[in-house]
Amino acid sequence: MIRERLLSEGLRPEQVENFQQATLRTRELREQIRERAHRLQWRVLDALQARGLSEVHLLGSTGYGYGDTGRELLDEVYADLFGCEAALVRLQFVSGTHAIACGLFGNLRAGDELVSVSGEPYDTLSTVIGQKAPTPGSLIDWGVSYRQLELVDGSLDYQGMRSFLRPDTKMVFLQRSRGYAWRKSLSIEQIGKAIEVIREIAPQCVVMVDNCYGELVEEREPTHVGADLVAGSLIKNLGGTLAATGGYLAGTRAAVDAAAYRLTAPGIGGEQGASLGFSRSMLQGLFQAPIVVGHALEGACWAACFMELEGLEVSPRWEDHRSDIVQAIRLGSPEAQAAFCRGVQRSGPVDSKATPEAWVQPGYRDPILMAGGTFIAGSSLEMSADCPVRPPFIAYLQGGVSLGHVQLGVVRGLVSLQNLTK
Ligand SMILES: *Cc1c(COP(=O)(O)O)cnc(C)c1O
Repeated sequence: MIRERLLSEGLRPEQVENFQQATLRTRELREQIRERAHRLQWRVLDALQARGLSEVHLLGSTGYGYGDTGRELLDEVYADLFGCEAALVRLQFVSGTHAIACGLFGNLRAGDELVSVSGEPYDTLSTVIGQKAPTPGSLIDWGVSYRQLELVDGSLDYQGMRSFLRPDTKMVFLQRSRGYAWRKSLSIEQIGKAIEVIREIAPQCVVMVDNCYGELVEEREPTHVGADLVAGSLIKNLGGTLAATGGYLAGTRAAVDAAAYRLTAPGIGGEQGASLGFSRSMLQGLFQAPIVVGHALEGACWAACFMELEGLEVSPRWEDHRSDIVQAIRLGSPEAQAAFCRGVQRSGPVDSKATPEAWVQPGYRDPILMAGGTFIAGSSLEMSADCPVRPPFIAYLQGGVSLGHVQLGVVRGLVSLQNLTK
């Protein structure tokens, strides 16, 4: 039955074989992914119960948002999940970039030094830092200095850190996910090892990790191995596809408070901020997040295997260790990117008849082609594909609430690629 559907989608018989081969080959690994997702969901459930989640927390507040117990409980549960003192989970963060920027600006002062030890940060952070071009309001504009230590063969340079960091480096930044780069995501083990080295040289510094796309992928988070602050977006992993907007920070009380003073105002911090009834979807999204992330990972693992059987170069390979939900597929030309994205877009539940077009989004250097078709605009825990239109012309595929949905997206992406060369 599935065979007939796949043939009618335009796969050739030998490609249907590959489809089934990929499903078989990845079976055991996907089983492990599911088991981990269940353990992580128990952890979220334990935290919700321990903090006494009740109907009243789901109601929300208006105005200043004083005494919003649902918002407070959400912060506490996030802090428990990350094993740290404090968290700030707010719909007032407009994006992951905004949450990260609050973490940076809140914890850095004029004259301080920020160092990235994972090479160039994510595209949108270049205008936050201002290292590529003079940018009004950027960290550099405010008098913070910045240096970055490049990755070596896509990996952290532990030896290099020893000579690169200074005892008075104020903040050290790491990016867990691959971003729009052909490199591996950093595992929690690697992040932990880096933090040990960082602490040897700059014991007082604030270590911040851009945790976007990494949440709930491994058993532990960067805060479990010594990070002072992590940040991310709620329309990625932790929103569980239900949070309509928002971002989060978690870490030490001091680092989170400093970021909260930047988000609202000094002295006010996290004490204000109406949740407007959105606590329900943020809490329910968190409850479901481990499962959805698990499905997305199963999809990524299968996609890597299938696309490789189809002769495409992928990163990570299906059996590689994963620390983010992103699956990079090297397509090699802007035309191939456009074709692949059309196929993915045609597989979305929303706007499936739309044709994605590349555009230069605020904060990005290059035009980006995005296939979405998601219920939450721009959500990338729902199945989506992003293609920065620049060499080597890669598609970054992520998300998906079920393996079947990802499979359909990949099949349509592939068929659309094939029609290109016909
Ligand atoms: C998505 C992402 C960001 C920024 O997130 P936005 O919500 O799009 O601003 C930052 N870093 C990484 C690695 C990301 O994947």
